[in-house]
Amino acid sequence: MAINKVKGTYDVLPTESYLWHKLEDKIKEVLHLYNYKEIRTPIMEYSEVFHRQSELSDMVTKETYDFDDRGDRKLTLRPEGTAGVIRSYVENKLYSSQELEKVYYIGPNFRYERPQKGRYRQFYQFGVEAIGAVDPALDAEMIILAFDFIKRLGLKGVRVRINSLGDDDSRRNYTEALKNHFLPHEATLCEDCKQRLTKNPLRILDCKIDQKHEAVINAPTPQDYLNEESRSYFKSVLEHLNVAKISYEIAPKLVRGLDYYSHTVFEIEADIEGFGAQNVLGGGGRYQKLVSELGGPDLGGIGFACGMERLLLALEAENVDFAKEIELDAYVIVFNNDLKTVATKILYELRGANLTVDANYTQKAFKGQLKQALRMNAKYLIIIGEEEFKKGVVGIKNTKTEVQEEVLFAKIKKYLVEKLEKK
Ligand code: AMP
Repeated sequence: MAINKVKGTYDVLPTESYLWHKLEDKIKEVLHLYNYKEIRTPIMEYSEVFHRQSELSDMVTKETYDFDDRGDRKLTLRPEGTAGVIRSYVENKLYSSQELEKVYYIGPNFRYERPQKGRYRQFYQFGVEAIGAVDPALDAEMIILAFDFIKRLGLKGVRVRINSLGDDDSRRNYTEALKNHFLPHEATLCEDCKQRLTKNPLRILDCKIDQKHEAVINAPTPQDYLNEESRSYFKSVLEHLNVAKISYEIAPKLVRGLDYYSHTVFEIEADIEGFGAQNVLGGGGRYQKLVSELGGPDLGGIGFACGMERLLLALEAENVDFAKEIELDAYVIVFNNDLKTVATKILYELRGANLTVDANYTQKAFKGQLKQALRMNAKYLIIIGEEEFKKGVVGIKNTKTEVQEEVLFAKIKKYLVEKLEKK
């Protein structure tokens, strides 16, 4: 019996991978403009990188893939990118330069969630982190970058939602206020939220079950509890966004799914008709404690992550002509098997001139080869016939104009390079 893929995972088939390549190229191109460099960290980490005392989000408490390796070490497949990046930042003492560290990553994450369209158990994110500075201009740069990137992909319907949780003090006051607000409603909250009430009432705000609970709808917002400093920090972030003419909306109840955020949090949403519930393309925020929690100095950072499947789904939904499948420059067809070595020689030479070329390895008959060549959409056919071979020429046919010319063996490369303008 054939074995199926793991629930919640998917294959990127050869007919689709060009979309992923283009997306990755675009990520690298734009991040380069903002002076971010790629960091590659392992997919598995010691569990304590994610399972930290202060982290009570569902993602970390309920959705991780945890396992013991053969040496009885507790490992976790990363459910998100930031914690591993910070682990690496601390372990490699990247802070010792005293400079801001600007990095990005691209790779798979793993969460045991209920699979549906746009929600998988293995999914790809690209994420960006700027570690080692607290500056509203940097928070703004992160949001500008996220917005700019999505615009450059060609997506039109994009919304930026932004909020501030304030500094430690503000957050503590707000948490206290939330606790007092929810306490009288404890009995009617879901089981998880009852727990959250004492451990981390902020989490109640993005509970999927209690979303429509009256107490959640009427809950106070972080904005009401920002102290003077946090208020002016947030104001400054917005001023930077204004000069960059980024349109955003303030989302007073946005708290984001992870517990390490403070000050600025934001989300980028697709605003596409009929796109569905999985319209959050990405999000992020400032973290002040994460570096020290993972054993590093007291330095803050800010980052965001974008779901790559969702970006591709949004591009499809908006019919954006975003990437082209690979096109063959030429396809070699031989009249009989003895001429295959000639084909091999020509293919090697043309590839040497950076042309994308192929020949047939499954069909023996000329007709079959021709059919396959046309299916492949090759721009030119190089036809090697017996008689022609003896004369030292091949036929080269432009598949669009159907014009065929005889070309000397020694001139094939030059001919095609000129025709294809690949000098
Ligand atoms: P998060 O790390 O939860 O803040 O998620 C950031 C982005 O990653 C989301 O906005 C989604 O685009 C994407 N994402 C999160 N979880 C999944 C998932 N299970 N499947 C696909 N994409 C996801």
